[in-house]
Amino acid sequence: MKIGILGGTFDPPHIGHLRLAEEAHKKLGLDKVIFVPAFIPPHKGERKITPPSVRLKMVAAIIEGEGSFELSDIEIRRREVSYTVDTLREFRSKYPRGTEFYFITGADSLEILTGWKDWKTLLELCHFVVANRPGFSRQALPAKATALEIEPLDVSSTLVRDCVRKGLAIDAFVPAKVKTVIDSERLYRS
Ligand code: ATP
Repeated sequence: MKIGILGGTFDPPHIGHLRLAEEAHKKLGLDKVIFVPAFIPPHKGERKITPPSVRLKMVAAIIEGEGSFELSDIEIRRREVSYTVDTLREFRSKYPRGTEFYFITGADSLEILTGWKDWKTLLELCHFVVANRPGFSRQALPAKATALEIEPLDVSSTLVRDCVRKGLAIDAFVPAKVKTVIDSERLYRS
């Protein structure tokens, strides 16, 4: 079995995440892709992050109806800083021996990878997949990592939050179901 894991803050999830998961699923021949929202992302600085329950709701909304995508609260339940190496170990203990894990990232992850907890071990525990992302280079791709070519989408959670704050439309970046949660929870307005 080949399992993709897409970790992130998902504050909010957007069509860039969906594109990444879809293309990884198809091009790497994955059985499923599991979206894993972080409880506390180690590298996101000082910004106040939307509560985990709301981010879970938004990810559930964005994958609704996508039979090959799942949501996991494995990092939320640990209630500590979310290190990917710990998450991989936990997934490996839950699945049968021989299951192959593909940790899926965008190229921005390479800028900080060597600061990730036990990053060399992490590269042994999974196929570390790095997709192209507009504005980021993959020159630092480690030999053990796998490059994935996707149709580029220049969208980020930062862009979505900025648009909401400025009162601009976000319909091109998030599906309607995610926008409904953003509106009802009054997220990103200040
Ligand atoms: P922020 O703008 O708040 O930093 P983000 O848009 O990078 O957020 P994350 O939840 O941090 O979203 O991303 C989760 C994963 O998805 C990361 O590995 C990131 O590189 C990848 N990703 C996000 N958006 C894209 C995109 N447009 N193209 C390729 N990969 C992406």
